[in-house]
Amino acid sequence: MMKRLTILILFVFGSIFSYSQKKVVFVIADGIPADVIEKLNTPALKAIAKEGGYSRAYVGGEKGTYSETPTISAVGYNSVLTGTWVNKHNVWGNDIAAPNYSYWNVFRLLKAADPSKKIAIFSSWLDNRTKLVGESLPAAGNIKFDFHFDGLELDTVNYRHDKNDEFMHRIDEAVVDKAASYIRSDAPDLSWVYLEYTDDMGHKYGDSKEFYSAVEKMDNQMQRLWEAIQYRKKEFGEDWLILITTDHGRGAASGKNHGGQSDRERSGWIVTNAGNLNEHFKKGPISIVDIMPTIARFLNITIPRNQLMEVDGIPLTGKISVLNPEIEVEEKKIEIEWDALQKNGEAKIWLATTNNFKLGSSDNYTLVTSVPLQKEKAEIDISKVPSGFYKIVIETPENFLNRWVILDKSLMPRR
Ligand SMILES: [Zn+2]
Repeated sequence: MMKRLTILILFVFGSIFSYSQKKVVFVIADGIPADVIEKLNTPALKAIAKEGGYSRAYVGGEKGTYSETPTISAVGYNSVLTGTWVNKHNVWGNDIAAPNYSYWNVFRLLKAADPSKKIAIFSSWLDNRTKLVGESLPAAGNIKFDFHFDGLELDTVNYRHDKNDEFMHRIDEAVVDKAASYIRSDAPDLSWVYLEYTDDMGHKYGDSKEFYSAVEKMDNQMQRLWEAIQYRKKEFGEDWLILITTDHGRGAASGKNHGGQSDRERSGWIVTNAGNLNEHFKKGPISIVDIMPTIARFLNITIPRNQLMEVDGIPLTGKISVLNPEIEVEEKKIEIEWDALQKNGEAKIWLATTNNFKLGSSDNYTLVTSVPLQKEKAEIDISKVPSGFYKIVIETPENFLNRWVILDKSLMPRR
């Protein structure tokens, strides 16, 4: 009797505390400005946003500052992957000439935290796996995808390159169908689905019915992914997070081009089913670098402290202590201000004058001061640490913020 009771108790506790496995899929649909996604008929995106939310999310870094980032495809993808802007990840163009793997991408963070986790990629473009994530490269952490379906752009037999670029739509269809079926059968812990056709139509036709039709086709593809997720939730009780975003907007004149810093080129967006969206998401402005820390938080990935001190994004869900850091440099001091979202806790202010991190080693941070969050400002006396370059990190109970101060303009990041 006693034994049966014990089993019963264990069973009851097991049911109450059984946690659902958490899984993430993120999608980059290439080159769709926010005004376009907002005006078209996108029932799947709307259904997903109804569970979580939709927000504009800027791309292109912080305009006019050291983190300003070209509104170019691979540059944007890598900001999504690493949660950093180009001054750190160093992918300045689609040639992906010299990515800086010191700033770990979300796949590497997951594998480092738990090598048993399964990762997958579905993409027309091979470089996403081999160069951006850097599969099998020692510098990029030697990680291996457990499943990949990509490089279809190179298959000119099955996807003959036609004049109207319709082959790219067929590739995206294959990519999405494979992603949906693989999610149903294998449910990888973290998947990246990359879709290219929208950008091709944008380049070819600009703001046009062809481009709009491509966006609506993408929405239909999201419906298939969403159904695969519903299937897993229902049949396996898993907890799924989906995030859909874009890598850049398009120029206002014709809609054909991108790369610059106009409002429309910078106008990205995020659709997600995430519950628990926080004040950062609700009040904004949010950006595409917020996706990586949001995924990390959902999957309970512990980001190593040295990485965390470099991440530019802020989680879109859960608790946040501080937002909106502002820096003012005077002759002998740096003033830092922020918005506190919590009543209690301290803000620790860290200062370094080196950037060894980008070379793969570490910086010697000094704890300059620690003040109550609610004070919403701190001051650093730099008269005794003269330098042309400072890295400042604000450490708080729920999140980190960081800023660079570049006094020596020759140190401004550039390609
Ligand atoms: Zn693009």
